[in-house]
Parts: sequence; structure tokens; C-alpha cells
Amino acid sequence: MGKDSYEEAIAALQKLLSEKGELGPVAAAKIGEITAELQTADGSATLSSESVEKLKNGFIHFKREKYEKQPGLYSELARGQSPTYMVFACSDSRVCPSHVLNLHPGEAFMVRNIANMVPAYDKTKYSGVGAAIEYAVLHLKVNLDKISCFGEEIVVIGHSACGGIKGLMSFPFEGPSSTDFIEDWVKICLPAKAKVLADHGDKPFGDQCAQCEKEAVNVSLGNLLSYPFVREGLVNKTLALKGGYYDFVKGSFELWGLEFGLSPALSV
Ligand SMILES: [Zn+2]
Repeated sequence: MGKDSYEEAIAALQKLLSEKGELGPVAAAKIGEITAELQTADGSATLSSESVEKLKNGFIHFKREKYEKQPGLYSELARGQSPTYMVFACSDSRVCPSHVLNLHPGEAFMVRNIANMVPAYDKTKYSGVGAAIEYAVLHLKVNLDKISCFGEEIVVIGHSACGGIKGLMSFPFEGPSSTDFIEDWVKICLPAKAKVLADHGDKPFGDQCAQCEKEAVNVSLGNLLSYPFVREGLVNKTLALKGGYYDFVKGSFELWGLEFGLSPALSV
């Protein structure tokens, strides 16, 4: 509710109060309630301008400390990008790969979404992810120094205490969704949930979620194989797939590769 509408509501109540004396206590209470809400709204407005200031100051810091101190890097990046990694990571605010893995501008082409999932190739659904993979693998500029196209590694990184994975493990397999998007999205990794329930069905829920956080990464790595240009890169050895797991409770990071036994004849 905007400030004007609060003020209009208070004015209307005051008018009512003056016309009908017996409503006095009710109206007075309502005015008090609305005024309190208005004060909260004013507080939010102040917070909002503070958060805008934080962004401005953040950019000033970046420009002074990084952009202006590395003119070579930023002028090279102005001409194009040739990242070594394509990284899938969760949208979770605690797991930014640039921070956790010290990746610098130009080094990693990233997709971040709920629970760092890669859906299987599907032109009619999930085209946002498909477009990112296609662009990264097929269309990024050739790095003449490396004599190769887009990088070498596609890395899917899961993490501890992932809300998306907790959702996947919590939502019922059948029945109507209680969310507009989340359930449908996390069901991409239903095979991970099924495997965890089969292998660790007797474990506490928290342990099952932790298992699923890693298993879902493997499902995503498998789904990457359904993209023809990814398969081609793997067969030609211009691409490699890696799974990763960042545990921000323990402060640890794991990385693993998967052998898919690919051959050029593979069809998915
Ligand atoms: Zn997450």
C-alpha cells in the first residue's frame, strides 16, 4: 500500500469518526493500526535507499580497486570473452562461485537457478538453460591463445543446506502442486530423490537431503549428455564434465569427474 492510500484511509476514518461518535473507539484503534503500518512503510523506504547506496558504493569500490587497477584485463574483456568454465550453481545467496572459487571476470560463464539443476534437452521447456549451454559451447569466441573454442570444463556445483533439494525431498511424488514453479522445476532431479530413498531410506531426513544434494549433481551431469553439442565436445575431448559440492557448514569443497564411457555412436 502506498503512502497516499494510507493517508486517504486515515482521512476517511477521521471523517467517519466525526460523523458517527459511537464508532470512536473502533476508529481510533484503526487509525493507530494504520499509522503504525505507515511508520513501517516509511522505515522500509529508508532501508531501500540504504540498499541502493550499498550497490552504488559497491560499484565504486569495484571500479577503484579492480577495474582501474587491471586495465589490461578489462580492456581484453571489452573485446570478448573466452571463459574456461561453464558453471551451474544454486541461486542461494551463500554460494556465489565467484567468491567461493575465486573466479574472476571472464573466467566462468554461469547459470544459477534453484538447486543448480540442468534439465534434459527440451526445446519447448527450460529453453533458458538450453540457450545458455548452446551459447557457451557453440558460440563463445575462439580464444586464439588456447587454440580452442569455449573452455574445457562444465562444472555443476551443489551445496549444503540447499532449500531447493529440501523441497524436492519434501514434495509428494503425486498430487497437485502447492507452488507455481518450484515443484515442477526441482522434479528435474526426481531420479536423484528416488535413488536416495532407495539407498538411504532409513536415514534421517537431513542426511537424505545431504545425499540428494550430491546425487542431484550427478543427475544434472547425466542430463548434460542429452545436449548434442555437449556430447560432441566430450567425444572430441574439447569438453569435460565435473561435479562439485560446496559445504558452507564445514567450509569444504569437493570436485569429481564422471566417466560416461562415451563413444561417437552414443545416442540419447
Ligand atoms: Zn541451493
